[in-house]
Amino acid sequence: MSNKQDANRQASFRPIVGIDLGTTNSAVAYIHKGKPEIVPNPSSKRIIPSVVLIDLQGQVIVGEDARAACVAMPDRTVAAVKRHIGSAERIPIAGQALLPQEISALILKELKSYVDAHFGPGEKEAVITVPAYFTDEQRRATKQAGELAGFMVERIINEPTAAALAFGLAHLEEDRHVLVYDLGGGTFDVSVVEMMSGLLEVKTSNGNSQLGGEDFDWKIVDWLADQMIAEYDVDPRQDLRAKALLKDAAEKAKITLSAEETALISLPLVTVQDDRPLGIETELTRSQFVALIEPFLSETMTCLRNVLQDAGLQAGDIGEILLVGGSTRIPRVRELIRQYLGREPRTDIHPEEAVALGAAVQAGLKSGALSDSGLVATDVAPFSMGIAVLTHWKNRSVRPGSFHIIIPRNTTIPVTRSDSFYTTADYQTSASIEIYQGEHEWVKHNHRLGEFLLEGIPANEAGAEEIEVTYRYNLNGILEVTAQCVSTGKAMTVTVQDALNRESQEAFAASASRLEALFNQSAENESEPDSDDAEDEWEIDGVLAGTEEEDAETDWPTVLHSEAAALLTRAQNLLSDLAPNDRTLLQKTIDSLQAAIQGEDIDRLRELIDQATDTLIDLEV
Ligand code: AMP
Repeated sequence: MSNKQDANRQASFRPIVGIDLGTTNSAVAYIHKGKPEIVPNPSSKRIIPSVVLIDLQGQVIVGEDARAACVAMPDRTVAAVKRHIGSAERIPIAGQALLPQEISALILKELKSYVDAHFGPGEKEAVITVPAYFTDEQRRATKQAGELAGFMVERIINEPTAAALAFGLAHLEEDRHVLVYDLGGGTFDVSVVEMMSGLLEVKTSNGNSQLGGEDFDWKIVDWLADQMIAEYDVDPRQDLRAKALLKDAAEKAKITLSAEETALISLPLVTVQDDRPLGIETELTRSQFVALIEPFLSETMTCLRNVLQDAGLQAGDIGEILLVGGSTRIPRVRELIRQYLGREPRTDIHPEEAVALGAAVQAGLKSGALSDSGLVATDVAPFSMGIAVLTHWKNRSVRPGSFHIIIPRNTTIPVTRSDSFYTTADYQTSASIEIYQGEHEWVKHNHRLGEFLLEGIPANEAGAEEIEVTYRYNLNGILEVTAQCVSTGKAMTVTVQDALNRESQEAFAASASRLEALFNQSAENESEPDSDDAEDEWEIDGVLAGTEEEDAETDWPTVLHSEAAALLTRAQNLLSDLAPNDRTLLQKTIDSLQAAIQGEDIDRLRELIDQATDTLIDLEV
């Protein structure tokens, strides 16, 4: 590289951090001297509660102080917002109604302030983790939260993959199958990862994005409420503050039960009835707690069995078990895993930090800070993706709504797959492409991602016109769909992102101004704003003006370049294992892809990525 290039690179240096945006806790990390390290907050705390408070002065407070205010000010605090991300549901807080990604942006903005304090102010790139089982909407909303917080979101990666990366960096020479069991506050994921001399390949993933420690807390809340109903005929869950109090006590009891056999719950004042204070004093034993959560734990074990089956592995093939997420501290969880897999999980992994550290490793691979490490990671699509088609029902009637899979679940990403479909009616001139993800044979049981209409099909007999549908699933888990009428060559391409949310640009601008208003109000109410706060406001302005434009369209050159780079790494790792003919073929693919990366022709790059993906799929089998 020339000196000029070096200088340019220096000038454009932007630190990339890795962020675990958790349901209960969040953390941010970066690569320091070849190793991932957490960026602590000003009080030296390494992880912060993912709780937001807007206090009586309108100040936005995130973290421990916000968490402490949950019981006293339940209408001014929001916890576990990750459970709502991706939905259009407004979350009430301090008399306002914010979208889940706006609340998440407040948490990310807090993390960004730690990063700014560490690296100095300015633009920062981030790799943000999501549960492997997050849908397209949940991923998009997470990305948007990052952008609203002022980050350039470089990549969205799956949490179990991140945890495996953190482990992989420290165990580069080891070849084995690793099982990552990630049970956090709100989500559950389990993945099988194959490690081979630094190549870390996620084989299969399974999980439930709505199952976690929060559910366990609410089970205890229900158990407590039942006792109060029996004693006083009053349901304390109807009172917002009482509910927050019980939830807090429930979580504390749950955590106590990870170390002790019984937990005392003593709350002299839970709620008031006819001026009479009503409280509760009771004991919860570990076995009672286990009975309350057993159905959840059984579900996680079913997922574990499925993930092994999908990977074609037996319990004995697993060489290492990584436990991630605070809820894996529950002894019964460890016991079930130990019983099933017949070995002890590793104990040197910090369940709450592993994901942020792994996100930093991914960031380091991107920034070049870890490019000499020899670590390479590939991931899979956690769901099958396909379209709705008509099908012949028991060879008699034709029924709509059958699910035709184009990308099967657990396919290595990035991936491009095409399939051909035919018109079903005489003189049909348009075709509706309905996009779904899921595993059921009928689309109504799957998750709908979007729909678009391909028009301009020549009027012809039924079955005479062929429509080729191509799915391209990129490294961020974002899907692009193309439908092309083969006889005319006319094609339409949409990203699911655009198809789903045509108003996304306006929605983003509206979110940015809501946050700006929140911070303006916060700043006005602060007695002596210091210079840092002025800078914060500036950044929000920057987000509004800058990202609005950027968000208008996906930055395809960047996305395609990172896809191409990932494919090149995959290809280069495969070369030495191939027979001479295959090696020559793959080398040619590598050369053309490298040339396309250097060039300016984005369509050509896209074409070569497709070809390279197909070649790799054939050769990797
Ligand atoms: P995470 O999302 O990884 O931060 O995990 C948070 C979840 O772990 C919350 O539901 C916590 O209540 C739960 N948790 C943390 N520590 C423990 C513990 N010692 N025993 C049981 N659950 C815990």
